[in-house]
Amino acid sequence: MPSSGHRLRDVEHHPLLTGDDSYDSAASSPAEADAADRVWFIRDGCGMTCAVLTWLLVLYADFVVTFVMLLPSKDFWYSVVNGVVFNCLAVLALSSHLRTMLTDPGAVPKGNATKEYMESLQLKPGEVIYKCPKCCCVKPERAHHCSICKRCIRKMDHHCPWVNNCVGEKNQRFFVLFTMYIALASVHALVLCGLQFIACVRGQWTECSDFSPPVTVILLIFLCLEGLLFFTFTAVMFGTQIHSICNDETEIERLKSEKPTWERRLRWEGMKSVFGGPPSLLWMNPFVGFRFRRLQTRPRKGAPEFSV
Ligand SMILES: [Zn+2]
Ligand SMILES: [Zn+2]
Repeated sequence: MPSSGHRLRDVEHHPLLTGDDSYDSAASSPAEADAADRVWFIRDGCGMTCAVLTWLLVLYADFVVTFVMLLPSKDFWYSVVNGVVFNCLAVLALSSHLRTMLTDPGAVPKGNATKEYMESLQLKPGEVIYKCPKCCCVKPERAHHCSICKRCIRKMDHHCPWVNNCVGEKNQRFFVLFTMYIALASVHALVLCGLQFIACVRGQWTECSDFSPPVTVILLIFLCLEGLLFFTFTAVMFGTQIHSICNDETEIERLKSEKPTWERRLRWEGMKSVFGGPPSLLWMNPFVGFRFRRLQTRPRKGAPEFSV
Protein backbone atom coordinates (compact mmCIF):
# COMPACT_ATOMS: atom_id res chain seq x y z
CA MET A 1 0.00 0.00 0.00
CA PRO A 2 1.37 3.41 -0.82
CA SER A 3 1.80 5.94 1.92
CA SER A 4 0.52 9.37 1.17
CA GLY A 5 3.95 10.79 1.98
CA HIS A 6 5.34 9.21 -1.13
CA ARG A 7 2.50 10.00 -3.47
CA LEU A 8 2.98 12.93 -5.74
CA ARG A 9 0.01 14.63 -7.23
CA ASP A 10 0.87 15.19 -10.84
CA VAL A 11 1.92 11.67 -11.61
CA GLU A 12 -1.11 11.00 -13.81
CA HIS A 13 -0.34 13.93 -16.08
CA HIS A 14 3.02 12.73 -17.21
CA PRO A 15 2.71 11.14 -20.66
CA LEU A 16 5.23 8.41 -19.89
CA LEU A 17 3.19 7.25 -16.90
CA THR A 18 -0.34 7.26 -18.26
CA GLY A 19 -0.40 5.36 -21.57
CA ASP A 20 0.49 1.71 -21.08
CA ASP A 21 2.24 1.30 -24.39
CA SER A 22 4.13 4.54 -24.25
CA TYR A 23 5.30 3.78 -20.75
CA ASP A 24 6.40 0.27 -21.59
CA SER A 25 8.21 1.26 -24.71
CA ALA A 26 9.93 4.09 -22.93
CA ALA A 27 10.87 2.08 -19.89
CA SER A 28 11.70 -1.21 -21.51
CA SER A 29 15.32 -2.08 -21.54
CA PRO A 30 16.44 -5.25 -23.33
CA ALA A 31 16.45 -6.96 -19.90
CA GLU A 32 12.83 -5.93 -19.28
CA ALA A 33 11.74 -7.05 -22.73
CA ASP A 34 13.51 -10.33 -21.99
CA ALA A 35 11.64 -10.66 -18.69
CA ALA A 36 8.32 -9.92 -20.40
CA ASP A 37 8.92 -12.89 -22.68
CA ARG A 38 9.15 -15.31 -19.77
CA VAL A 39 6.38 -17.16 -17.99
CA TRP A 40 5.22 -15.25 -14.93
CA PHE A 41 4.99 -17.37 -11.79
CA ILE A 42 4.90 -16.36 -8.12
CA ARG A 43 6.81 -18.61 -5.76
CA ASP A 44 4.52 -18.37 -2.76
CA GLY A 45 3.92 -21.53 -0.71
CA CYS A 46 0.39 -20.60 0.36
CA GLY A 47 -0.60 -19.54 -3.17
CA MET A 48 0.86 -22.66 -4.79
CA THR A 49 -0.97 -24.88 -2.26
CA CYS A 50 -4.28 -23.09 -2.89
CA ALA A 51 -3.79 -23.29 -6.67
CA VAL A 52 -3.06 -27.04 -6.52
CA LEU A 53 -6.09 -27.53 -4.23
CA THR A 54 -8.29 -25.69 -6.74
CA TRP A 55 -7.16 -28.04 -9.51
CA LEU A 56 -7.67 -31.14 -7.34
CA LEU A 57 -11.21 -30.05 -6.41
CA VAL A 58 -12.14 -29.43 -10.05
CA LEU A 59 -10.66 -32.80 -11.05
CA TYR A 60 -12.58 -34.48 -8.20
CA ALA A 61 -15.83 -32.93 -9.46
CA ASP A 62 -15.01 -34.11 -12.98
CA PHE A 63 -14.35 -37.63 -11.70
CA VAL A 64 -17.66 -37.85 -9.78
CA VAL A 65 -19.70 -36.35 -12.62
CA THR A 66 -18.15 -38.63 -15.23
CA PHE A 67 -17.60 -41.94 -13.43
CA VAL A 68 -20.24 -41.91 -10.69
CA MET A 69 -23.15 -40.20 -12.45
CA LEU A 70 -22.86 -40.16 -16.25
CA LEU A 71 -21.09 -43.35 -17.35
CA PRO A 72 -23.37 -45.71 -15.35
CA SER A 73 -26.47 -43.92 -16.72
CA LYS A 74 -28.63 -45.92 -19.11
CA ASP A 75 -29.63 -42.79 -21.05
CA PHE A 76 -26.90 -42.50 -23.68
CA TRP A 77 -27.65 -38.96 -24.87
CA TYR A 78 -28.10 -37.69 -21.31
CA SER A 79 -24.58 -38.91 -20.55
CA VAL A 80 -23.04 -37.57 -23.76
CA VAL A 81 -24.59 -34.08 -23.65
CA ASN A 82 -23.95 -33.52 -19.94
CA GLY A 83 -20.47 -35.06 -20.18
CA VAL A 84 -19.48 -32.73 -23.02
CA VAL A 85 -20.96 -29.63 -21.34
CA PHE A 86 -19.39 -30.30 -17.93
CA ASN A 87 -15.98 -31.22 -19.31
CA CYS A 88 -15.95 -28.13 -21.56
CA LEU A 89 -16.75 -25.93 -18.55
CA ALA A 90 -14.03 -27.66 -16.50
CA VAL A 91 -11.42 -27.24 -19.27
CA LEU A 92 -12.36 -23.57 -19.76
CA ALA A 93 -12.23 -22.95 -15.98
CA LEU A 94 -8.82 -24.59 -15.57
CA SER A 95 -7.46 -22.83 -18.68
CA SER A 96 -8.66 -19.49 -17.29
CA HIS A 97 -7.02 -20.38 -13.98
CA LEU A 98 -3.71 -21.09 -15.70
CA ARG A 99 -3.89 -17.89 -17.73
CA THR A 100 -4.63 -15.86 -14.58
CA MET A 101 -1.79 -17.50 -12.69
CA LEU A 102 0.83 -17.37 -15.44
CA THR A 103 0.07 -13.92 -16.88
CA ASP A 104 1.98 -10.89 -15.69
CA PRO A 105 -0.80 -8.88 -13.96
CA GLY A 106 0.86 -5.59 -14.99
CA ALA A 107 4.07 -5.47 -12.99
CA VAL A 108 6.00 -2.22 -13.16
CA PRO A 109 9.70 -2.79 -14.01
CA LYS A 110 11.59 -3.20 -10.77
CA GLY A 111 14.22 -0.66 -9.79
CA ASN A 112 13.65 1.59 -12.79
CA ALA A 113 13.68 4.76 -10.66
CA THR A 114 17.28 5.42 -11.62
CA LYS A 115 18.77 8.87 -12.06
CA GLU A 116 19.16 8.27 -15.80
CA TYR A 117 15.53 7.20 -16.16
CA MET A 118 14.26 10.16 -14.14
CA GLU A 119 16.28 12.47 -16.38
CA SER A 120 14.88 10.75 -19.47
CA LEU A 121 11.35 11.64 -18.31
CA GLN A 122 12.30 15.32 -18.75
CA LEU A 123 10.10 16.48 -15.90
CA LYS A 124 9.04 20.10 -15.99
CA PRO A 125 9.50 22.30 -12.92
CA GLY A 126 6.80 21.45 -10.38
CA GLU A 127 6.00 18.17 -12.10
CA VAL A 128 6.27 15.28 -9.71
CA ILE A 129 6.29 11.50 -9.86
CA TYR A 130 5.91 8.79 -7.27
CA LYS A 131 8.62 6.29 -6.37
CA CYS A 132 7.84 3.02 -4.60
CA PRO A 133 10.22 2.66 -1.65
CA LYS A 134 9.93 -1.14 -1.68
CA CYS A 135 10.74 -2.07 -5.27
CA CYS A 136 12.37 1.24 -6.27
CA CYS A 137 10.23 1.77 -9.35
CA VAL A 138 8.56 4.85 -10.71
CA LYS A 139 4.97 4.17 -9.79
CA PRO A 140 2.25 4.91 -12.32
CA GLU A 141 -1.16 6.17 -11.28
CA ARG A 142 -3.42 3.44 -9.85
CA ALA A 143 -0.51 1.04 -9.28
CA HIS A 144 -0.10 -0.55 -5.86
CA HIS A 145 2.70 -2.53 -4.29
CA CYS A 146 1.93 -6.19 -3.56
CA SER A 147 3.95 -7.60 -0.70
CA ILE A 148 3.55 -11.18 -1.98
CA CYS A 149 4.49 -10.50 -5.60
CA LYS A 150 7.07 -7.98 -4.31
CA ARG A 151 6.24 -5.73 -7.24
CA CYS A 152 4.11 -2.71 -8.02
CA ILE A 153 1.10 -3.87 -10.06
CA ARG A 154 -0.84 -1.61 -12.42
CA LYS A 155 -4.53 -1.31 -11.50
CA MET A 156 -4.05 -3.92 -8.78
CA ASP A 157 -7.42 -5.26 -7.68
CA HIS A 158 -6.29 -7.76 -5.06
CA HIS A 159 -3.87 -10.65 -4.55
CA CYS A 160 -5.75 -13.92 -4.86
CA PRO A 161 -4.05 -17.00 -3.35
CA TRP A 162 -6.46 -19.31 -5.24
CA VAL A 163 -4.85 -18.22 -8.51
CA ASN A 164 -1.47 -17.59 -6.83
CA ASN A 165 -1.18 -14.15 -8.42
CA CYS A 166 -2.31 -10.58 -8.27
CA VAL A 167 -5.39 -9.63 -10.24
CA GLY A 168 -4.43 -6.52 -12.15
CA GLU A 169 -4.63 -4.68 -15.42
CA LYS A 170 -3.36 -7.49 -17.67
CA ASN A 171 -4.96 -10.61 -16.21
CA GLN A 172 -8.29 -9.41 -14.83
CA ARG A 173 -10.22 -10.75 -17.82
CA PHE A 174 -8.89 -14.29 -17.19
CA PHE A 175 -9.81 -14.05 -13.52
CA VAL A 176 -13.36 -12.98 -14.43
CA LEU A 177 -13.62 -15.94 -16.84
CA PHE A 178 -12.26 -18.29 -14.16
CA THR A 179 -14.94 -17.26 -11.65
CA MET A 180 -17.66 -17.43 -14.31
CA TYR A 181 -16.77 -20.93 -15.57
CA ILE A 182 -16.36 -22.30 -12.03
CA ALA A 183 -19.78 -20.86 -11.06
CA LEU A 184 -21.41 -22.41 -14.17
CA ALA A 185 -19.71 -25.78 -13.63
CA SER A 186 -20.83 -25.73 -9.98
CA VAL A 187 -24.46 -25.12 -10.95
CA HIS A 188 -24.27 -27.91 -13.52
CA ALA A 189 -22.76 -30.34 -10.97
CA LEU A 190 -25.43 -29.44 -8.39
CA VAL A 191 -28.24 -30.04 -10.91
CA LEU A 192 -26.72 -33.39 -11.92
CA CYS A 193 -26.37 -34.35 -8.24
CA GLY A 194 -30.03 -33.54 -7.64
CA LEU A 195 -31.15 -35.61 -10.66
CA GLN A 196 -28.91 -38.49 -9.57
CA PHE A 197 -30.37 -38.54 -6.06
CA ILE A 198 -33.91 -38.55 -7.49
CA ALA A 199 -33.04 -41.38 -9.90
CA CYS A 200 -31.39 -43.43 -7.14
CA VAL A 201 -34.23 -42.93 -4.68
CA ARG A 202 -36.87 -43.87 -7.26
CA GLY A 203 -34.98 -46.93 -8.55
CA GLN A 204 -32.46 -49.31 -7.08
CA TRP A 205 -29.39 -47.75 -5.42
CA THR A 206 -27.32 -50.70 -6.58
CA GLU A 207 -28.24 -49.99 -10.21
CA CYS A 208 -27.82 -46.22 -10.35
CA SER A 209 -24.05 -46.27 -9.90
CA ASP A 210 -21.10 -48.60 -10.42
CA PHE A 211 -19.99 -47.83 -6.86
CA SER A 212 -21.57 -49.26 -3.71
CA PRO A 213 -24.50 -47.18 -2.33
CA PRO A 214 -22.58 -45.84 0.72
CA VAL A 215 -19.60 -44.76 -1.43
CA THR A 216 -21.94 -43.18 -3.99
CA VAL A 217 -23.76 -41.21 -1.29
CA ILE A 218 -20.49 -39.95 0.27
CA LEU A 219 -19.07 -38.93 -3.12
CA LEU A 220 -22.29 -37.12 -4.09
CA ILE A 221 -22.65 -35.32 -0.75
CA PHE A 222 -19.06 -34.12 -0.92
CA LEU A 223 -19.63 -32.93 -4.50
CA CYS A 224 -22.78 -31.06 -3.40
CA LEU A 225 -20.90 -29.31 -0.59
CA GLU A 226 -18.04 -28.44 -2.92
CA GLY A 227 -20.47 -27.19 -5.57
CA LEU A 228 -22.32 -24.99 -3.09
CA LEU A 229 -19.09 -23.56 -1.67
CA PHE A 230 -17.51 -22.94 -5.08
CA PHE A 231 -20.70 -21.46 -6.50
CA THR A 232 -21.19 -19.04 -3.60
CA PHE A 233 -17.58 -17.90 -3.64
CA THR A 234 -17.16 -17.53 -7.41
CA ALA A 235 -20.62 -16.03 -8.06
CA VAL A 236 -19.99 -13.30 -5.48
CA MET A 237 -16.50 -12.70 -6.87
CA PHE A 238 -17.80 -12.61 -10.45
CA GLY A 239 -20.46 -10.04 -9.51
CA THR A 240 -17.93 -7.92 -7.62
CA GLN A 241 -15.50 -7.99 -10.53
CA ILE A 242 -18.12 -7.00 -13.11
CA HIS A 243 -19.29 -4.20 -10.80
CA SER A 244 -15.69 -2.97 -10.41
CA ILE A 245 -15.04 -3.10 -14.15
CA CYS A 246 -18.28 -1.25 -14.97
CA ASN A 247 -17.35 1.45 -12.43
CA ASP A 248 -13.66 1.51 -13.47
CA GLU A 249 -12.66 1.09 -9.86
CA THR A 250 -10.42 -1.58 -8.35
CA GLU A 251 -11.17 -3.36 -5.08
CA ILE A 252 -8.34 -1.45 -3.38
CA GLU A 253 -9.67 1.89 -4.60
CA ARG A 254 -13.17 0.94 -3.45
CA LEU A 255 -11.98 -0.08 0.03
CA LYS A 256 -9.91 3.09 0.36
CA SER A 257 -12.80 5.17 -1.03
CA GLU A 258 -10.35 6.90 -3.33
CA LYS A 259 -11.75 9.79 -5.31
CA PRO A 260 -11.10 9.06 -8.99
CA THR A 261 -8.39 11.28 -10.45
CA TRP A 262 -8.44 9.27 -13.67
CA GLU A 263 -10.89 9.49 -16.54
CA ARG A 264 -13.41 6.80 -15.78
CA ARG A 265 -14.44 4.28 -18.42
CA LEU A 266 -17.93 3.31 -17.31
CA ARG A 267 -20.08 0.28 -18.14
CA TRP A 268 -19.43 -1.04 -21.65
CA GLU A 269 -16.36 1.15 -22.05
CA GLY A 270 -14.93 -0.41 -18.90
CA MET A 271 -15.77 -3.92 -20.13
CA LYS A 272 -14.20 -3.19 -23.51
CA SER A 273 -10.99 -1.93 -21.95
CA VAL A 274 -10.64 -5.06 -19.79
CA PHE A 275 -11.75 -7.65 -22.37
CA GLY A 276 -10.20 -5.89 -25.35
CA GLY A 277 -12.40 -4.79 -28.24
CA PRO A 278 -16.15 -4.70 -28.84
CA PRO A 279 -18.45 -7.35 -27.35
CA SER A 280 -18.00 -10.72 -29.01
CA LEU A 281 -17.78 -14.41 -28.19
CA LEU A 282 -14.00 -13.94 -28.00
CA TRP A 283 -14.57 -12.35 -24.59
CA MET A 284 -15.44 -15.86 -23.35
CA ASN A 285 -12.26 -17.40 -24.75
CA PRO A 286 -9.41 -17.80 -22.23
CA PHE A 287 -7.02 -18.81 -25.03
CA VAL A 288 -7.13 -15.39 -26.73
CA GLY A 289 -3.67 -13.89 -27.09
CA PHE A 290 -1.98 -17.10 -25.96
CA ARG A 291 1.54 -17.69 -27.18
CA PHE A 292 4.25 -20.04 -26.10
CA ARG A 293 6.89 -18.36 -24.00
CA ARG A 294 10.56 -19.10 -24.05
CA LEU A 295 11.47 -21.97 -21.78
CA GLN A 296 14.07 -21.28 -19.15
CA THR A 297 14.98 -23.44 -16.19
CA ARG A 298 17.36 -21.24 -14.22
CA PRO A 299 15.65 -18.62 -12.07
CA ARG A 300 17.22 -15.27 -11.50
CA LYS A 301 18.71 -14.92 -8.06
CA GLY A 302 16.39 -13.12 -5.65
CA ALA A 303 13.60 -12.75 -8.19
CA PRO A 304 10.07 -13.50 -6.97
CA GLU A 305 9.05 -15.10 -10.26
CA PHE A 306 10.74 -17.79 -12.33
CA SER A 307 10.48 -19.22 -15.77
CA VAL A 308 9.73 -22.76 -16.82
ZN1 LIG B 1 6.57 -1.40 -5.35
ZN1 LIG C 1 0.42 -9.99 -5.65
